[in-house]
Amino acid sequence: MASSFGQSFAPQMGICQYRDGVWSEGKLQPTEALSIHPASNVLHYGGSCFEGMKAYRWADGSIHLFRPDRNFARMQASARMLCLPEPSIELLEGLIHQVVDAARELVPEFPGSLYLRPTLIGTEPNIGGAAHPSNEAILFVLASPVGDYFSGGMRPLRLLIETEHLRCAPHFGQVKTGGNYASALGQIVNARAQYQADQVLFCPGGDVQETGAANFLLFAKDRVLTSALEGAILPGVTRDSILQLAKRDGYEVQERHYDVDELLQLIPQSEAALSGTAAILTPVGTLIYQGKEHPVGDGAAGPRSQALRDQLTAIQSGLGDDTLGWMQTV
Ligand SMILES: *Cc1c(COP(=O)(O)O)cnc(C)c1O
Repeated sequence: MASSFGQSFAPQMGICQYRDGVWSEGKLQPTEALSIHPASNVLHYGGSCFEGMKAYRWADGSIHLFRPDRNFARMQASARMLCLPEPSIELLEGLIHQVVDAARELVPEFPGSLYLRPTLIGTEPNIGGAAHPSNEAILFVLASPVGDYFSGGMRPLRLLIETEHLRCAPHFGQVKTGGNYASALGQIVNARAQYQADQVLFCPGGDVQETGAANFLLFAKDRVLTSALEGAILPGVTRDSILQLAKRDGYEVQERHYDVDELLQLIPQSEAALSGTAAILTPVGTLIYQGKEHPVGDGAAGPRSQALRDQLTAIQSGLGDDTLGWMQTV
């Protein structure tokens, strides 16, 4: 059950409603169909944002969240961008804790985890409300036990470099909205069909940014290069964590703009990887640009990204010291 990511759910989810200016108390209910009006804001005008985070089981059976404050703050930022009611940190934290507590027995052994998906949708029934914020909303938290993402081995990814299209509207680049994913999907589907690419690396006008759902990091000898958190870059929790670990290991971390020419110059002597909660740090083996394939290093997974990935998973699994204070007991 734990192997198909995103399709099996804990029997209970957390939920609360916003109406008349107040949030109801968070509670648990069966993970079953929601009842919303067909005129709901989310169905017509895209009022939808979410988070992705994980709870881990340690060897002593205790359950821990990884940097949950980051996800809560980001969800608040997403809500503000969408003009949806902003849930408080206390509300988000309380709901997450209820859900994890109810699913405690379902949290798989490491490298498995309990994936958590807080989701906020606008539910005011008003198709005349295209230019008005939704005054009603539902916040719910799904829990999904997931196994080892890499049980089939870690195959380096193929990324198509896309210089024409944007991943999403630039002013939405820093938040996690459903519409951003809708915006990127057509490009990803085309890249898969035309180039057997796994993902698209969006580089509008040549500026290297990120993929549809993960940040892009380059490990060039003794430095780590990634685009700065300005403009259209999603502030990934994994990205930030890997950069902190890299600094601690003595890497020079460069967060700045760089273009496709510089990227292609660097990749023969570099490693590249995608970072995100689901896949942690996934090696990139090939970049496809203007119909030509460019291997990253020798095209295989490399030791530098593997070492940083191991450090991060050691902290998450409780096997390594949490010297940075990232884990929160539930
Ligand atoms: C969710 C997401 C990421 C990864 O963020 P994490 O907090 O590391 O999971 C990166 N880029 C985009 C566009 C995303 O939506």
